[in-house]
Amino acid sequence: MYLLIGCLSESDETKMNRIPLPVLIRNNFTSMSEEYEAFAREKDGCRTCSLYEHYHQVVQSEGNAENPTFMIIGEAPGADEAEKGRPFIGKAGQRLRKSLYRHKDVFNKKTTLISNVVACRPEANKFPKTEEPQACYEMWLKREIGIVQPEILILLGNQSLSYVRGETGITRLRGQWEWIDELSVTSFATYHPSYVMRCENGMNKEVGTQFEADIDTLAEEGRKILQV
Ligand code: SF4
Repeated sequence: MYLLIGCLSESDETKMNRIPLPVLIRNNFTSMSEEYEAFAREKDGCRTCSLYEHYHQVVQSEGNAENPTFMIIGEAPGADEAEKGRPFIGKAGQRLRKSLYRHKDVFNKKTTLISNVVACRPEANKFPKTEEPQACYEMWLKREIGIVQPEILILLGNQSLSYVRGETGITRLRGQWEWIDELSVTSFATYHPSYVMRCENGMNKEVGTQFEADIDTLAEEGRKILQV
């Protein structure tokens, strides 16, 4: 993050922080602190790793960036997300949003922030096995979690589980709550919606049922927090 502004003087940096965020990025958020706005601007200018070179779009998070009840973390943007600069708007996103909509009183733009481990679309939609995801997580997502301070982190799929919690085995760990000391937040893991869709289109309908049950569990917890 410091690479972007490393060549600027302190006064240049201060001036830059006063320039409002572009409307297209601002439209992703219903609420944000000044600290988050500076963060989003800095992230938008990130050209740190090779992922940016393929599609030239840093995809910002979307929703409430100021103490949301939920922060949902997926893997990486796909084609639709990179084109529009919004997370989870492709087919997997629609599958996720359909499930969240069943509980729209608790999952909505005022209560929820949606994000990804990696902010730029990987080439050919293949989640990189290189050092880029770790770098992006350390540089942006980890810091973002610290700024927005969500009540609950929802980890979608193995990549999210692995980078945020350092664990693998989503089938075993889905549906379980776990406190993350390093981030001072409680987390809940479930399947990634693209995996849910693959299973639903195949023979394993049970995965879809489990996913819906996980969303129900999260909604129930959300209602307690929000008192709705
Ligand atoms: S993937 Fe992350 S670290 Fe790499 S250029 Fe995009 S925002 Fe920066």
